[in-house]
Amino acid sequence: MKIYNTLTKKKEEFVPIEPGKVRMYVCGPTVYNLIHIGNARPMIVFDTVRRYMEHKGLEVNYVSNFTDVDDKIIKKAIEEGVDASVISERYIAECKKDMEAMNVKPATTHPLATQEICGMLEMIGTLIEKGHAYVAADGTVYFRTRSFKEYGKLSHKNLDDLQGGNRSLLVSGEDQKEDPLDFVLWKPKKDGEPYWASDWCDGRPGWHIECSVMSKKYLGDEIDIHAGGEDLVFPHHENEIAQSEAANGKTFAKYWMHNAFLNIDNKKMSKSAGNFFTVRDIAEKYDLQVLRFFMLSAHYRSPLNFSADLMEAAKNGLERIVTAVDNLNYLFANAQTEAMTEEEEKQLEEAKAYIAKFDEAMDDDFNTADAISVIFELVKFANTNADASKSKAFIQSLIDEIKQLSDICGLIVEKEAEMLDADIEALIEERQAARKAKNFARADEIRDELLNKGIILEDTREGVKWKRA
Ligand code: AMP
Ligand code: ZN
Repeated sequence: MKIYNTLTKKKEEFVPIEPGKVRMYVCGPTVYNLIHIGNARPMIVFDTVRRYMEHKGLEVNYVSNFTDVDDKIIKKAIEEGVDASVISERYIAECKKDMEAMNVKPATTHPLATQEICGMLEMIGTLIEKGHAYVAADGTVYFRTRSFKEYGKLSHKNLDDLQGGNRSLLVSGEDQKEDPLDFVLWKPKKDGEPYWASDWCDGRPGWHIECSVMSKKYLGDEIDIHAGGEDLVFPHHENEIAQSEAANGKTFAKYWMHNAFLNIDNKKMSKSAGNFFTVRDIAEKYDLQVLRFFMLSAHYRSPLNFSADLMEAAKNGLERIVTAVDNLNYLFANAQTEAMTEEEEKQLEEAKAYIAKFDEAMDDDFNTADAISVIFELVKFANTNADASKSKAFIQSLIDEIKQLSDICGLIVEKEAEMLDADIEALIEERQAARKAKNFARADEIRDELLNKGIILEDTREGVKWKRA
């Protein structure tokens, strides 16, 4: 399995620190709003990396944080006149709903910045002790960037170029820094903001320190993979490396993975330009499986363009796989024989070759675009070779294989079995009995259960009528 490592700018063979186990940290969203489709890209991409590694038999400890203290969260809390935690809790819950609808597995741990302040105070203390950080007059703690000799190794930037070229690092109000390159670890509270007591001042952490601390707490000083969107390479990940390696004296992460950006109609996604979609916006029009399929139809390191046409193409692509599985299920239900013939066994060997081909694509830095093409080849094979003369065992093996490869991509390709008319009618009868007994709660429950399965009830004078949505 080869991974492109941003640190070395090379594809490298993946060798976990501890055989059979993977320690992986993915920077999560700042929770002040519904997540947008750009945020969905790293979620889907790295969930797929995780699923593939699990398919290979590796045990993945997957940690992804929620940044729940931040200027944007505080601003929104002030606007709404509520506590910052009301905002962050609301959007964490919404984000988890979107993740579920995109079939993104929950992380092994989803730490929250506000719950990890102790660890942050400890690491900042260590950095001060070791001379890598200092306290300014107002109690702000800065990281002494030049004290970490390898600063710039991830983003391949040179410290002197950075200082000369990046004016934004020299902004006013930061004159208490020893050096414009230094960055904040802890800052004093402002009125109305959440804050915590510390040896330096009542205040709150800078953004970068949370990931160094959570990664250490849940995965240890040295981890296998650290990931996120490419905008995080500098300064966020560069700063994380500086903090962690200066504090722990060990290499922080072996492999650094970054997804390229998602653009809309070839332009940068931006609210002010009016080309901005939340995941929820997309859910109004599409099953979010389509969004997932769309995201995986490109390699994660290639920029991805979002457009109505491409979403339609994704919908059709996914539909092709779903229809094939549906047809196979029909053939299975009507198959006349159970066991495989010798000829079928030979054909199945041919089909098995697609698994190896799929793995080959994924082993090459998770080339999901090629992996999905392999699923299409397998679907074509199934459409050509499965018919009413085939045994149940043969058909089932094809279904299993398509489902297995799709599942590694996190794609659900089997429709829920439709309810039989008799089962629907039995439930309607039960509902009528419940109503008669004035058990309206049960009656409503049955109505909702049916609705969830796409059955709509209509109470008419002639009795209850039903139809499939
Ligand atoms: P944020 O909440 O801005 O910290 O973003 C959470 C994650 O989404 C980070 O890994 C970002 O790099 C990623 N991200 C944000 N915008 C985009 C985008 N347009 N395309 C791909 N990834 C993005
Ligand atoms: Zn981070």
